[in-house]
Amino acid sequence: MKRYCVRSTTFTTLHQLRQTATATVPARFRIDARIIKTGFDTDTCRSNFIVEELLRKGQVFAARKLFDEMPQKNTVSTNTMISGYVKSGDISSARELFDAMVDRTVVTWTILMGWYARNNQFDESFKLFREMCRSCTLPDHVTFATLLPGCNDEVPENAVSQVHAFAVKLGFDRNPFLTVCNVLVKSYCEIGRRDSACVVFEQIQEKDSVTFNTLITGYEKDGLYMEAIHLFVEMQQSGHKPSDFTFSGVLKAVVGLHDFVLGQQLHCLAVTTGFSRDVSVGNQILDFYSKHDRVLETRNLFNEMPELDFVSYNVVISSYSQAEQYEESLKLFREMQCMGFDRRNLPFATVLSIAANFSSLQMGRQVHCQAIVAMADSVPHVGNSLVDMYAKCEMFEEAELIFKRLSQQSTVSWTALISGYVQKGLHEAGLKLFTKMRGANLRADQSTFATVLRASASFASLLLGKQLHAFIIRSGNSENVFSGCGLVDMYAKSGSIKDAVQVFEEMPDRNAVCWNALISAYADNGDGEAAIGAFTNMIHSGLQPDPVSVLGVLTACSHCGFVEQGTEYFQAMSRIYGMTPKRKHYACMLDLLVRNGRFAEAEKLMGEMPFEPDEIMWSSVLNACRIHKNQGLAERAADQLFGMEKLRDAAAYKSMSNIYAAAGEWESVSHVMKAMRERGIKKVPAYSWVEVNLKIHVFSSNDKTHPKGDEIVRKINELTAEIEREGYKPDTSWVAQDIDEQMKIESLKFHSERLAVAFALISTPEGCPIVVMKNLRACRDCHAAIKLISKIVKREITIRDSRRFHHFRDGICSCGDYW
Ligand SMILES: [Zn+2]
Ligand SMILES: [Zn+2]
Repeated sequence: MKRYCVRSTTFTTLHQLRQTATATVPARFRIDARIIKTGFDTDTCRSNFIVEELLRKGQVFAARKLFDEMPQKNTVSTNTMISGYVKSGDISSARELFDAMVDRTVVTWTILMGWYARNNQFDESFKLFREMCRSCTLPDHVTFATLLPGCNDEVPENAVSQVHAFAVKLGFDRNPFLTVCNVLVKSYCEIGRRDSACVVFEQIQEKDSVTFNTLITGYEKDGLYMEAIHLFVEMQQSGHKPSDFTFSGVLKAVVGLHDFVLGQQLHCLAVTTGFSRDVSVGNQILDFYSKHDRVLETRNLFNEMPELDFVSYNVVISSYSQAEQYEESLKLFREMQCMGFDRRNLPFATVLSIAANFSSLQMGRQVHCQAIVAMADSVPHVGNSLVDMYAKCEMFEEAELIFKRLSQQSTVSWTALISGYVQKGLHEAGLKLFTKMRGANLRADQSTFATVLRASASFASLLLGKQLHAFIIRSGNSENVFSGCGLVDMYAKSGSIKDAVQVFEEMPDRNAVCWNALISAYADNGDGEAAIGAFTNMIHSGLQPDPVSVLGVLTACSHCGFVEQGTEYFQAMSRIYGMTPKRKHYACMLDLLVRNGRFAEAEKLMGEMPFEPDEIMWSSVLNACRIHKNQGLAERAADQLFGMEKLRDAAAYKSMSNIYAAAGEWESVSHVMKAMRERGIKKVPAYSWVEVNLKIHVFSSNDKTHPKGDEIVRKINELTAEIEREGYKPDTSWVAQDIDEQMKIESLKFHSERLAVAFALISTPEGCPIVVMKNLRACRDCHAAIKLISKIVKREITIRDSRRFHHFRDGICSCGDYW
């Protein structure tokens, strides 16, 4: 961007002129020629020349000595000395000479102005410009070309227009002073006054490529991508040759437009004009393919580029990382380290995010060390990535330490820390940090909200969710797509599908993620028809479904037992939408088949899968076998599961022992339980929780320690008597213990979800709906009991288990007893 700005300052222009002159004429004649031309005192001129020679050689001290010893100095002497100081970066000495000078010329002023402009001290450079004009020294075209180019948004708007007015008054705003016109266009773009830039642009009669490039870049920076492209076309039509800057600007605009075809056309043009060989244009093309997820094309181009710099490597490394091809990313990262680039430019943030993804502390630490050595750990985005990496590796102490040491704790840093806690299931800690972040007066952004909404959804606390919703509205983020998706998801997971749908319908913009959130909301709440409807509407709205959308629909089909529809969607995935089903899709499809007892088809599907069935799949099979009493296949599934090196929990052992228990094979039960104990796997204890009066109450099975324990037991006994009159019979096949029948019935009665429901019933007003969460799947016996309870107490009871929602009302459940 900065590369095409006019760099010629008065000093360098003069210097270059001298150099071209000195190149051809012998030194002896040079001096004399000038003396004759200027008519100045011979000695002074000779001394000026020597001072200049000394400065050119970098001997500033010797030059100053000679300058001081000169009996007669003229303006040229002082200008030469000042520009020598400016060039060597000694601005205070330059300023001293300048301030003491009586007969300053336009050259003197411009030399000094140039230094301040180049060093972003715009207040001072513009102040000098005004002082110069007040002292009746008129600026020349070099002054404008020196003062304006480096302008950025720190420059006050009226400063540029004042300078512009002077340029107009002195006639520098038209040809042949194109350089001045171009810097005016650029300055207006930089300070965000694109309208003025366009006016200057239109008034230039004979534009050059730089003029066009300047405005194209201006448009691109303001997000007016289409305007940038139109101007590029106009430039081509008016016969101006594009340059590397043109391509960089237009390619950036194309990335902003998400127009793949247009990008390819530009790529072709860059190849035919030879600009694709330029490293900055090449990088821009790489970035274009990378942003369109074309990792293969990106890599091929990278291999063909005649020149590579650190930007090229950075683009390809993050492209592989986005495509989850981490091996390749790391390979290139290692290659890059041997290339002699400035180590501060290594893509530490990208590689740290890979380490975070894998929760690989070892790799993260190595990269951290390298970042320290390269002194890149203080770069803000690297610091944030370090916080993120340590948090995702569950090293919260280290994450917080780095967080505290960050030079600037930005919204991104806070969000990295919060999301680390939330991702590891430490939702409460995440929410506490969020409160702290608000206390530190930092604005939460869309990612922060998405993270805290996720935490809130996991608590299924509708109240907390609603508070967050109100906060999002107040902070002006309610129309944001990310916050919207988070809200849909939060409401759905908190059991309020009605609010989820309302948020969705009020969203001004919806992307695939929003539709996916809606589809899953319906799927988890067991409304298969609505999920399929949302999927169809998504396609009608012109969006392409992605693998997540299909997974949502398959889940809905699986929750509702829509075998035929599920099969159709599964096949459509590759046939119509051109997607390769992933492991999760197969798992969902398999679940759908086995739950419906279609074991033959399920086995066929497992045979066709491009990967080995995993724990989740065999667990589905085992569960289904228990429901459909298919002991033969159950034993095979259990064998597979028991043989696995790693098991998440003891669910498989529990299921198999349940199957044997139901068949009365107690010896096999104890055999399985013994194997489980020997393996040292613990049963994940079941617990349920419910929010009453802003407090979360947690219950585990047979847990009577709650302060209201006695009342809860009384309520349960009372309810059990009532539901028995309605026809409830305890299903003791769920108790995998060889104990007396009466004891089995007693243990069922006090399952965690029933304790939570009973507590909510005695603690909330009549008619008030109840929402209970459970960490494992709801058991069949509790399901049957709660159905009848909902009828007796005339309340809507919702149980969210680890898989889905059960909305109980008037003695029936939304799942239709199918889950
Ligand atoms: Zn139960
Ligand atoms: Zn149900």
